[in-house]
Amino acid sequence: MRSPKKLRARNKKRLLPQIVGIMKDISSPAAVKALLKERGLSPNKQLGQNFLVDTNMINKIADAAEVTKADAVLEIGPGLGALTQELSERAGSVVAVEIDSGLAQALETTLLGRENITVIHADFLKCDLAELHHALGGGSFKVAANLPYYITTAIIMRILESGLPYVSMSFLVQKEVADRMAAFPGTKSYGSLSIAVQYYTNVQVVLSVPRGCFLPPPGVDSVVVRLTARPPKVAVPKVEDFFRITRAAFAMRRKTLANNLAQGLGIGKDRAQQLIRAANLPENVRGEELSLEQFAEIARAYTQVDG
Ligand code: SAM
Repeated sequence: MRSPKKLRARNKKRLLPQIVGIMKDISSPAAVKALLKERGLSPNKQLGQNFLVDTNMINKIADAAEVTKADAVLEIGPGLGALTQELSERAGSVVAVEIDSGLAQALETTLLGRENITVIHADFLKCDLAELHHALGGGSFKVAANLPYYITTAIIMRILESGLPYVSMSFLVQKEVADRMAAFPGTKSYGSLSIAVQYYTNVQVVLSVPRGCFLPPPGVDSVVVRLTARPPKVAVPKVEDFFRITRAAFAMRRKTLANNLAQGLGIGKDRAQQLIRAANLPENVRGEELSLEQFAEIARAYTQVDG
């Protein structure tokens, strides 16, 4: 991970008299095209690069993040910095993690003169979270991002399970993923992602973002979802067991919960049925019908004996 201090120093060295002022227009389609062209870059599909090119929508996304000058903000995937600029206007400080070296370099220009932003050139999924937290000031923080869709779940899970003191996370994501996060038991979208997100946070789908707000437009619908931290919704003796159980429960959707638990937890079918009975559930129940509290009942019975 390149040191934030070094990047700031390089920013300063590169100050040219004619561009000392803050660069304003980086969010129109023409400006994004020109910036990319100037640097010999083009949107990299494999890195999920769909840049925001609608100032109005950028403002609405920043509104959804409810950022104030009292906040430190983490942004994942700043791209050319369109959302980063808006966040830096509203936040006390912004730390932005970008994997693409071409874009990380472009940010040195597009974010030039903004002293409250630290750009870290790194893969968010591999970067050292303790260092990142340090760069954020070491206290609580908010997260805001137009996420790369190919790793949305991995990014969200990494933050949820990090134990870091995030207050809220506002993400622009594929609508189908937001539906999974907000889903209720008994619906098609309900699964282990719904349970993980709802265990740690309150989920709100805040607004839809039309495809035309991006360059290039993604092939799927997008929404902004806000996850607000709160104490875990259910009490379980061992959180790892709870998540092993919920992951096992959804491994094969057509199977009964007993079969999925037996296979996923490596226990006999009799034991799996016993756990289900301990939670006062019928033996042929399927995982998608269970609430968080019912999964917690199973986890309590499991941890008592097997955990
Ligand atoms: N925030 C910019 C915007 O809204 O215009 C760009 C958003 S684009 C959907 C996703 C960004 O995430 C790209 O800049 C991409 O290079 C970056 N990215 C992809 N994978 C990443 C990773 N593992 N770690 C950090 N950034 C990543």
